[in-house]
Amino acid sequence: MKAHRAILIKLPRDKCDANYIKRLMALTNLAYRDYEVWTPDLPKRVQHQLYGFKDFKKSLVFGTEPKRWFARAWVPLKMQRVYNDGAKRGATDALVVLDFRNNIIKIRQVCRSEPGYSIELPMPRWVVERVGEGGDVRFAMIGLRDNEPYLALVAEREVEPYQSSGYILAIDVNSWRYGIAWGLIRSGRIVSFKQDGLNPQRIVSLYNQAIKREKKLGILKRLGLDDAINAKRAGRMARRLRSRAYRLINEEAMFMAGKLVRKALRYGAFVVIDDVDWEGLRELLTRKYGGRVGKLLLSGLKRFVKLLVTQLEWYGAPYEFRRLYSRKCPRCGHKLTQQRGRVMVCENCGFKAPRDKVPIHWAMKL
Ligand SMILES: [Zn+2]
Repeated sequence: MKAHRAILIKLPRDKCDANYIKRLMALTNLAYRDYEVWTPDLPKRVQHQLYGFKDFKKSLVFGTEPKRWFARAWVPLKMQRVYNDGAKRGATDALVVLDFRNNIIKIRQVCRSEPGYSIELPMPRWVVERVGEGGDVRFAMIGLRDNEPYLALVAEREVEPYQSSGYILAIDVNSWRYGIAWGLIRSGRIVSFKQDGLNPQRIVSLYNQAIKREKKLGILKRLGLDDAINAKRAGRMARRLRSRAYRLINEEAMFMAGKLVRKALRYGAFVVIDDVDWEGLRELLTRKYGGRVGKLLLSGLKRFVKLLVTQLEWYGAPYEFRRLYSRKCPRCGHKLTQQRGRVMVCENCGFKAPRDKVPIHWAMKL
């Protein structure tokens, strides 16, 4: 099985021409649609590469086909890797070169439309780690995100899932209110159980502070005072709070995914992931926190699951998605009733467990 992992590397803005990259992205979109447009003012070498990719674009993990006309598509680039021992892999006419001997990445011709223009970046630790794990960084793309230039690298690794040692690691995403819950199960017994990460309260409070400042800014604007120092400060604070909320949720998703993957590997566990009803969860979060915050929290949880699966596959940990209920009896399927102290009881078969652990019991049914 081939596993993939990707990274985005921010490119120095002053060394990249965003408009040039924008044009290349538009041409890539056309290439996906089987149109070949040769523009005289762009380097031939870059354009050749664009159309040379057509046959193999489907194999690119990053390269999802653009859905709309004129949507910006990331530009696939040929890659060459030069290893410490001098061995080379990949295309000799590549526009991106990973040079492990000098610990740099060279990007040619695609940052600015000048003959022979190239930039160098320090080799990210991520690349060295993936290669150290037996991966090969095979694909590269360049593109804009929020109008900032980025290089995307995709590592590929051939991996066979390991045989589970008998441990099951159950991960419940639906208990988001208290973070992500996980339980380690062995021979039908819960060995350990914990809830942590993704604390929605902190994110909600940051976000609401940002909204409050934005409202204040709105009022000042209507009064024609948007040039005042107060207004500028409110605007700056709002942006800062909002981006802190985004960063926080991203960091927690990354931290939790990494932590749980390490746990799975340490125990050689089979991983059962809650197959979330995203639509239902979206409604729930929107009802409780309002549309914008709800969407933000949902995107954090989705990102967590995506990162988790990507890393489990990369390290060959076997996993499965499964609906893990918290109000349905794992023994007989009957509806559970909640008693004092968040204890759930089945009136049909007598099953009894703390509410947060019921999903872990569902995972045990494997
Ligand atoms: Zn029951």
